[in-house]
Amino acid sequence: MNGYAGKILRVNLTARKKTIIPTSQYEEWIGGHGMGSAIFFDLVKDKTIDGFDPANIVTIMTSPFSGTLVPGASGRTEVQGIGVQSVPIGWFTRSNFGGRFSSMLKFAGWDGIVIEGKANEPVWLDIRNEEVTIRNCSSLSLWGTDTWQCQEKIWQYVATKQGYGDWIEASGLKGERTTQRPAVLAIGPAGENLSRMACLIHDASNGSGQGGFGAVWGSKNLKAISVIGTGSIRVNNPKALMRTRLWQQKQYAFDLDNLKSTRMTVDFQSPPVPGLMWRRGRPKTGQRPQACIGCHSGCRARFADGLGNEATCFTTLVYSAARTQEIQRATSDLLNRLGLNAAEIFWGEMYLRDLFLYGILGANKEVDSPLNFKAYGRRTYIEQLLKAIAYRNDGLGNPHPFGDVLSEGFVRAAKTWGRLDGAQGDLKTGRLQFPNWGLPQHKEPRSQLDWSYGSILGDRDINEHGFDQLRSHPTNAKRYGFPMYASAKDLVKIYTDKMTPFEGNMRMLDFSTENMYSEHIAKLVSWHRYYTRFWKQSMMFCDWRWPDFVNLLAPQMIGSTGISEPKFLSAVTGRRLTFLDGINIGKRIWNLDHAIWTLQGRHRDMVHFSDYVYTQDVVYDQYLPGRKNGKWDYINTRGRHIEREKFEGFKTRFYKLQGWDPDSGYPTRQTLVSLDLGYVADELKQKDLLGTA
Ligand code: SF4
Repeated sequence: MNGYAGKILRVNLTARKKTIIPTSQYEEWIGGHGMGSAIFFDLVKDKTIDGFDPANIVTIMTSPFSGTLVPGASGRTEVQGIGVQSVPIGWFTRSNFGGRFSSMLKFAGWDGIVIEGKANEPVWLDIRNEEVTIRNCSSLSLWGTDTWQCQEKIWQYVATKQGYGDWIEASGLKGERTTQRPAVLAIGPAGENLSRMACLIHDASNGSGQGGFGAVWGSKNLKAISVIGTGSIRVNNPKALMRTRLWQQKQYAFDLDNLKSTRMTVDFQSPPVPGLMWRRGRPKTGQRPQACIGCHSGCRARFADGLGNEATCFTTLVYSAARTQEIQRATSDLLNRLGLNAAEIFWGEMYLRDLFLYGILGANKEVDSPLNFKAYGRRTYIEQLLKAIAYRNDGLGNPHPFGDVLSEGFVRAAKTWGRLDGAQGDLKTGRLQFPNWGLPQHKEPRSQLDWSYGSILGDRDINEHGFDQLRSHPTNAKRYGFPMYASAKDLVKIYTDKMTPFEGNMRMLDFSTENMYSEHIAKLVSWHRYYTRFWKQSMMFCDWRWPDFVNLLAPQMIGSTGISEPKFLSAVTGRRLTFLDGINIGKRIWNLDHAIWTLQGRHRDMVHFSDYVYTQDVVYDQYLPGRKNGKWDYINTRGRHIEREKFEGFKTRFYKLQGWDPDSGYPTRQTLVSLDLGYVADELKQKDLLGTA
């Protein structure tokens, strides 16, 4: 099996038992998310259990690309299981992180890990090639450490030597050696204390952010997984892989020595950008790009002063009111050390500030809070807030219900505080910007329809930037007064020409108000779900670089998506799958996930946004391609909202397009059988959850 190690590690923490699942049993799903969903479906008999139930499993999966030289894919890892962050149900959900964990797992001889049960005391998993040991945390005093301390202790224990580049000949490696320290995935205090916004952290700032998987691990008494491997991955055609990588790099990737632009607007395939997202721009201190293993993009940075290393996206945005950039970068580090989800903290922190300014939050106020707002902007304020959440106290080490309530997530906290009641409830006014499933806003839900519809029809904020350029480029061009590099019509054509099997349908990217509930948009959302489920989350092409639609470095600006993905797949595995084959496997995975949500209790009546999305208008300029008076242009979506009834009509169109029952949203046998998922239909039938249309 080219591209595979051949086996998946199954660990039952309750019984302290380790078994092996042959990867071939799930090979039809190719890798990552597809395999994770299929394993979850098989192993979790009762899909209605809570995420904290020991019977919940967490899968940590690699792809055939892990540990190879496929750029922007080799270092990603997919995490799945029933989450605890969403509202009203902790959906079966996913998260993904970069770094080197997946590669190291493959080098150790494993395609994935399945965690089930609950240990009777805190433990960590020590994987050294074939040798797998469940160790108690007590001997290294790991429980109670932050994610960085935990990793350092494990590095020291496994590798014994601390010098970079030293040969490591750990016991269990049977005389083989490596210069690489173990890759460790760990939870911090937030996970130990079961905060629903707790995440998993690997190295400095690779976070499996959404889903609350840190808390799920905490509930299982699992502190960390460490893996060190000395093996290699069999590649079908190494020469073809090198050729494709070099072609990709030469034709489509930026050249650090010859940058065309450092603007944030030149995002995908652009120079490293995180420095531009910190308060006051790129840090003045020395820095160099940092990449996940095998990636030539290097979208992160390491700084000479060591603050904010490897941070990306939301982690660089939290606490933008910090007085100095150093405080903000230190905040990013603290988030990672405590193991907290940056996206939820970003919006939640601003919400608390708003409640304070309006006299609602404070000592003995409507929301009784110990936070010291006199220190707002300083380091002490944010430290108190983050520690209150992570330790469920006042943030200074004393018991207080504030941190305990907040640790349940901002929407649950607002409910406890009575802030969601009545006509002026915070999800009605939009004071609390959490549009779907109790999760924080990311992109503007009333403008970027691929993003918001994909999120509410799925399980989480999708966090998939494949169409984000369509908003970010024209909006920034208008805001900062620089010319757009292409007309709306030309841009849309490049995208839609690649969107097989709907290719050529330009109305899929018509974001005008007239088109926002149409079947064209239903096709856009469908294509996006299918593409990402396979090419991104199963093959693990990184969201920061793929899909590559418009590429300013490429001839005619036409990116490599559609050509590159199958080329790499063929070089590594020898399989002759086309781009469309991948989209179709993605459709199958999407249907399996939807069946799991249905078994968890989803009905179409539950699928709706928070009220503010239907009642409050977009209040800032957001330009996207659209048709106006029969002509393409960049249109401003400011001043519009999603109309509730029309969105219900959209759902009906979307469900019909999927082949699901439009009245309930349930999958139908006919559709499932057509996707070779008859066994899934059988389980739905047993629970009386099979659609009839
Ligand atoms: S683009 Fe950035 S996050 Fe993605 S794989 Fe490359 S270095 Fe990692």
